[in-house]
Amino acid sequence: MRSRRGPVRRCAHQKKFWRNHVLFPTIAAKCGMKKSTVVGEEFRMAKCAYCSTTIIFGGKSEGKLRFCNEQCRNKGVLLATSEQVPVNVIQQKACEIRQGNCPKCGARGPIDVHVSYQVWSAVFLTSWKSRPHVCCRSCGIKSQLGDAAFSLLLGWWGFPWGLIFTPIQVVRNMVGLARGVDPSKPSAQLEKIVRLTTASQLIQTN
Ligand SMILES: [Zn+2]
Ligand SMILES: [Zn+2]
Repeated sequence: MRSRRGPVRRCAHQKKFWRNHVLFPTIAAKCGMKKSTVVGEEFRMAKCAYCSTTIIFGGKSEGKLRFCNEQCRNKGVLLATSEQVPVNVIQQKACEIRQGNCPKCGARGPIDVHVSYQVWSAVFLTSWKSRPHVCCRSCGIKSQLGDAAFSLLLGWWGFPWGLIFTPIQVVRNMVGLARGVDPSKPSAQLEKIVRLTTASQLIQTN
Protein backbone atom coordinates (compact mmCIF):
# COMPACT_ATOMS: atom_id res chain seq x y z
CA MET A 1 0.00 0.00 0.00
CA ARG A 2 2.77 2.35 1.05
CA SER A 3 4.80 1.63 -2.02
CA ARG A 4 1.83 2.51 -4.22
CA ARG A 5 1.14 5.81 -2.47
CA GLY A 6 4.74 6.91 -2.58
CA PRO A 7 4.89 7.96 -6.22
CA VAL A 8 1.48 9.63 -5.99
CA ARG A 9 2.72 11.84 -3.19
CA ARG A 10 5.82 12.72 -5.08
CA CYS A 11 3.69 13.61 -8.03
CA ALA A 12 1.65 16.01 -5.88
CA HIS A 13 4.87 17.57 -4.68
CA GLN A 14 6.04 17.92 -8.23
CA LYS A 15 2.80 19.68 -9.16
CA LYS A 16 3.28 22.07 -6.30
CA PHE A 17 6.85 22.65 -7.34
CA TRP A 18 5.74 23.46 -10.86
CA ARG A 19 3.02 25.78 -9.67
CA ASN A 20 5.21 27.68 -7.23
CA HIS A 21 8.52 27.79 -9.00
CA VAL A 22 7.89 27.36 -12.70
CA LEU A 23 4.36 28.25 -13.76
CA PHE A 24 3.46 31.13 -11.51
CA PRO A 25 6.62 33.20 -12.04
CA THR A 26 6.27 32.69 -15.80
CA ILE A 27 2.63 33.79 -15.79
CA ALA A 28 3.44 36.66 -13.46
CA ALA A 29 6.21 37.81 -15.76
CA LYS A 30 3.89 37.57 -18.77
CA CYS A 31 1.26 39.66 -17.01
CA GLY A 32 3.89 42.22 -16.11
CA MET A 33 3.38 41.57 -12.39
CA LYS A 34 6.09 42.28 -9.87
CA LYS A 35 7.78 44.85 -12.04
CA SER A 36 6.40 47.97 -10.42
CA THR A 37 6.74 46.72 -6.88
CA VAL A 38 9.63 44.32 -6.74
CA VAL A 39 12.92 45.90 -5.99
CA GLY A 40 16.47 44.88 -6.58
CA GLU A 41 16.67 45.69 -10.27
CA GLU A 42 20.01 46.87 -11.48
CA PHE A 43 21.41 50.05 -10.03
CA ARG A 44 21.07 53.06 -12.32
CA MET A 45 20.97 56.77 -11.67
CA ALA A 46 18.81 58.60 -14.17
CA LYS A 47 16.16 61.27 -14.20
CA CYS A 48 12.59 60.45 -15.10
CA ALA A 49 12.01 61.90 -18.56
CA TYR A 50 8.47 62.81 -17.52
CA CYS A 51 8.50 64.09 -13.93
CA SER A 52 12.27 64.75 -13.57
CA THR A 53 12.57 62.73 -10.34
CA THR A 54 15.95 61.05 -9.92
CA ILE A 55 15.49 57.30 -10.36
CA ILE A 56 17.57 55.62 -7.69
CA PHE A 57 16.50 52.03 -8.28
CA GLY A 58 14.33 50.37 -10.89
CA GLY A 59 12.28 52.51 -13.20
CA LYS A 60 10.97 51.84 -16.70
CA SER A 61 12.61 52.25 -20.07
CA GLU A 62 11.21 53.35 -23.38
CA GLY A 63 13.87 53.42 -26.06
CA LYS A 64 16.68 55.52 -24.63
CA LEU A 65 14.43 57.29 -22.12
CA ARG A 66 14.00 56.31 -18.47
CA PHE A 67 10.89 56.81 -16.35
CA CYS A 68 10.20 56.24 -12.66
CA ASN A 69 7.16 54.02 -13.28
CA GLU A 70 4.59 52.75 -15.77
CA GLN A 71 2.39 55.81 -15.31
CA CYS A 72 5.23 58.22 -16.05
CA ARG A 73 6.25 56.10 -19.04
CA ASN A 74 2.78 56.19 -20.58
CA LYS A 75 2.67 59.94 -20.14
CA GLY A 76 6.19 60.25 -21.50
CA VAL A 77 5.29 58.31 -24.63
CA LEU A 78 2.36 60.65 -25.14
CA LEU A 79 4.78 63.52 -24.54
CA ALA A 80 7.04 62.26 -27.31
CA THR A 81 4.14 62.07 -29.75
CA SER A 82 2.94 65.54 -28.80
CA GLU A 83 6.02 67.38 -29.98
CA GLN A 84 4.12 68.70 -33.00
CA VAL A 85 1.97 71.02 -30.86
CA PRO A 86 3.37 74.56 -31.35
CA VAL A 87 5.32 76.00 -28.39
CA ASN A 88 3.37 79.27 -28.25
CA VAL A 89 0.04 77.39 -27.96
CA ILE A 90 1.45 75.42 -25.02
CA GLN A 91 2.84 78.50 -23.30
CA GLN A 92 -0.41 80.40 -23.67
CA LYS A 93 -2.43 77.52 -22.22
CA ALA A 94 0.07 77.09 -19.35
CA CYS A 95 -0.31 80.79 -18.50
CA GLU A 96 -4.11 80.47 -18.53
CA ILE A 97 -3.98 77.47 -16.16
CA ARG A 98 -1.51 79.26 -13.94
CA GLN A 99 -3.74 82.29 -13.55
CA GLY A 100 -6.92 80.24 -13.21
CA ASN A 101 -8.52 78.64 -10.15
CA CYS A 102 -7.18 75.57 -8.36
CA PRO A 103 -8.75 72.38 -9.82
CA LYS A 104 -8.74 70.84 -6.33
CA CYS A 105 -10.05 73.53 -4.00
CA GLY A 106 -11.23 76.26 -6.37
CA ALA A 107 -9.04 78.90 -4.74
CA ARG A 108 -7.23 81.47 -6.85
CA GLY A 109 -3.77 80.68 -8.26
CA PRO A 110 -0.96 80.73 -9.03
CA ILE A 111 -1.52 77.13 -10.09
CA ASP A 112 1.47 74.96 -10.90
CA VAL A 113 2.79 71.41 -10.57
CA HIS A 114 3.56 70.20 -7.05
CA VAL A 115 5.11 66.72 -6.87
CA SER A 116 4.53 64.54 -3.81
CA TYR A 117 6.44 61.35 -3.00
CA GLN A 118 5.14 58.14 -1.49
CA VAL A 119 6.48 54.75 -0.38
CA TRP A 120 4.87 51.72 1.25
CA SER A 121 6.33 48.36 2.18
CA ALA A 122 5.17 44.88 3.11
CA VAL A 123 8.07 42.70 4.31
CA PHE A 124 10.01 41.99 1.09
CA LEU A 125 7.98 44.32 -1.09
CA THR A 126 8.59 48.03 -1.36
CA SER A 127 6.71 50.28 -3.76
CA TRP A 128 7.41 53.97 -4.31
CA LYS A 129 6.08 56.63 -6.61
CA SER A 130 6.09 60.33 -7.31
CA ARG A 131 2.78 62.03 -8.00
CA PRO A 132 2.58 65.35 -9.85
CA HIS A 133 -0.44 67.48 -8.83
CA VAL A 134 -1.65 70.51 -10.76
CA CYS A 135 -2.99 72.73 -8.00
CA CYS A 136 -2.45 75.78 -5.81
CA ARG A 137 0.44 75.93 -3.35
CA SER A 138 -1.65 75.08 -0.30
CA CYS A 139 -3.13 71.99 -2.00
CA GLY A 140 0.42 71.04 -3.03
CA ILE A 141 1.59 71.37 0.57
CA LYS A 142 -1.34 69.21 1.70
CA SER A 143 -0.41 66.39 -0.70
CA GLN A 144 3.27 66.58 0.22
CA LEU A 145 2.52 66.50 3.95
CA GLY A 146 -0.01 63.72 3.37
CA ASP A 147 2.46 61.61 1.40
CA ALA A 148 5.24 62.29 3.94
CA ALA A 149 2.94 61.07 6.74
CA PHE A 150 1.81 58.09 4.64
CA SER A 151 5.46 57.14 3.98
CA LEU A 152 6.49 57.59 7.61
CA LEU A 153 3.65 55.29 8.62
CA LEU A 154 3.79 52.62 5.89
CA GLY A 155 7.22 52.96 4.29
CA TRP A 156 9.45 51.30 6.87
CA TRP A 157 7.99 47.79 6.88
CA GLY A 158 10.13 46.29 4.14
CA PHE A 159 13.71 45.10 4.22
CA PRO A 160 15.99 46.58 3.02
CA TRP A 161 14.32 48.99 0.55
CA GLY A 162 11.66 50.32 2.90
CA LEU A 163 14.36 51.45 5.32
CA ILE A 164 16.26 53.14 2.48
CA PHE A 165 13.34 54.71 0.62
CA THR A 166 11.30 56.02 3.53
CA PRO A 167 13.80 58.75 4.48
CA ILE A 168 14.42 59.53 0.78
CA GLN A 169 10.71 60.05 0.02
CA VAL A 170 10.16 62.04 3.22
CA VAL A 171 13.11 64.33 2.42
CA ARG A 172 11.86 64.75 -1.17
CA ASN A 173 8.49 65.91 0.18
CA MET A 174 10.22 68.30 2.58
CA VAL A 175 12.41 69.72 -0.20
CA GLY A 176 9.29 70.18 -2.37
CA LEU A 177 7.55 71.91 0.55
CA ALA A 178 10.44 74.25 1.19
CA ARG A 179 11.20 75.06 -2.43
CA GLY A 180 7.70 75.55 -3.79
CA VAL A 181 7.51 76.70 -7.41
CA ASP A 182 8.86 79.69 -9.31
CA PRO A 183 6.32 82.51 -8.83
CA SER A 184 7.35 84.43 -11.97
CA LYS A 185 6.47 81.95 -14.72
CA PRO A 186 4.86 78.54 -15.36
CA SER A 187 7.26 75.69 -14.60
CA ALA A 188 8.61 73.41 -17.31
CA GLN A 189 6.60 70.62 -15.65
CA LEU A 190 3.36 72.55 -16.05
CA GLU A 191 4.17 73.12 -19.71
CA LYS A 192 4.81 69.39 -20.08
CA ILE A 193 1.44 68.52 -18.53
CA VAL A 194 -0.31 71.07 -20.77
CA ARG A 195 1.47 69.55 -23.76
CA LEU A 196 0.21 66.09 -22.73
CA THR A 197 -3.39 67.10 -22.17
CA THR A 198 -3.40 68.95 -25.48
CA ALA A 199 -1.93 65.87 -27.19
CA SER A 200 -4.49 63.50 -25.64
CA GLN A 201 -7.30 65.88 -26.63
CA LEU A 202 -5.93 65.89 -30.18
CA ILE A 203 -5.80 62.07 -30.20
CA GLN A 204 -9.37 61.83 -28.89
CA THR A 205 -10.80 64.29 -31.39
CA ASN A 206 -9.01 62.70 -34.37
ZN1 LIG B 1 8.40 60.08 -13.16
ZN1 LIG C 1 -6.01 74.34 -4.08
